[in-house]
Amino acid sequence: MELSKYPLRTYKDTPSDAELISHRLMLRSGLIKKLASGLFTWMPLGLRVIRKIEGIVRRELDSSGAYELLMPAVQPSELWKETGRWEEYGNLLLRIQDRHERFFCFGPTHEEVITDIVRKEITSYKQLPVNFYQIQTKFRDEIRPRYGVMRAREFLMKDAYSFHLDQKSLEDEYENMGNAYNNIFSNLGLNFRKVSANSGEIGGSMSHEYHVLADSGEDEIAYCDEEDFAANVEMIESKKAPNGGKLSFARGIEVGHIFQLGDKYSKSMGLTVLNKEGKSVSPMMGCYGIGISRIVAASIEQNHDDKGIIWPGEIAPFEIIIIVLNDKSSDLTEKGQEIYKSIKAIGKEVAIDDRDERAGVKFAEADLIGIPQQIVLSKRGIDQGTIELVDRRTGNKEDLSIEDLIQRISS
Ligand code: ATP
Ligand code: MG
Repeated sequence: MELSKYPLRTYKDTPSDAELISHRLMLRSGLIKKLASGLFTWMPLGLRVIRKIEGIVRRELDSSGAYELLMPAVQPSELWKETGRWEEYGNLLLRIQDRHERFFCFGPTHEEVITDIVRKEITSYKQLPVNFYQIQTKFRDEIRPRYGVMRAREFLMKDAYSFHLDQKSLEDEYENMGNAYNNIFSNLGLNFRKVSANSGEIGGSMSHEYHVLADSGEDEIAYCDEEDFAANVEMIESKKAPNGGKLSFARGIEVGHIFQLGDKYSKSMGLTVLNKEGKSVSPMMGCYGIGISRIVAASIEQNHDDKGIIWPGEIAPFEIIIIVLNDKSSDLTEKGQEIYKSIKAIGKEVAIDDRDERAGVKFAEADLIGIPQQIVLSKRGIDQGTIELVDRRTGNKEDLSIEDLIQRISS
């Protein structure tokens, strides 16, 4: 990416309603643009981060044995009436009408649609268990959209739904998904905790949330490391952990939620399969969500300093940025292009700041957008035959020859 051609615009100031540091940094670094309350455009730089997160989630879910599909965002009201949620879901549900005056909603979640698919496609125990997932846009008409993409109205979610012949099979898949979630959030470079949670209006019995620890989190979680216990405080009745241990408290941002739904949806929507004995039974169901777009904000809450964002390598929009410092006496443009091409050639995602801007502006913007490795090309360095490699997180600087630099980056 050549910054001289890239549609990136950064800002010094942010609107007063941007309270959270992640919200301010996302606006300042031009990752997102607000369209209306709770509606955001992902600009090219921000979308690269989304795609990285999706990639990590996909890789893990594919290897866990789930199958990706893509359901419509718009759903007919008839399905929601079958489960009673057309009424229950209340004002969170964005209801719309088509030209024939039939009612639809913009999906806040997809239990009804997937259950409808499965009741048409799956008839025998031989086709179970099965787990379907999608990465897709949801709409929830939140009462107070805030904190930017953290609590938006339109947002990206990974949602998965599994179907089982019996409770034991559901429990096995619940554990399998729990392991996949641990891998996903570790690979995303997040400091997180898995906590017992309320299953809420979605129904069902067992549920766990995944929280990114951050002082700005909307939830409070209680934990006791000695007992390996953690729960959303909504779930806590006493002031002690289950075995009497002392509780500690922390704030968390919910980035994932897994549920055992039981047969609520299969019963209300008439999904049945034939078991081994040829008897018709209602399958058990699990569902598993991850807030893809919320993760971008949650990651920034944990990875920033007073100069800007510090992306973990796994989700950085680019891995390296080359900062070319031209001055009146020297033009390093060609040298910069040469290094840019050799880094691209080894398959790295590299950006080059080849703009006609002052050094101060270039440094400040590179720090703001948070690309993990900065390569500084200056006259002084070139005269000595070296290039400076700066680690955005630690600020650590090294002078390297071009060969050593390429060697270092490729290792
Ligand atoms: P919350 O308690 O934050 O309102 P929820 O429990 O209603 O979320 P789920 O139905 O569990 O949300 O959805 C799965 C995931 O989708 C959540 O864990 C969260 O990461 C994400 N998510 C939910 N609502 C929003 C929103 N308004 N904006 C962005 N992400 C969201
Ligand atoms: Mg939840």
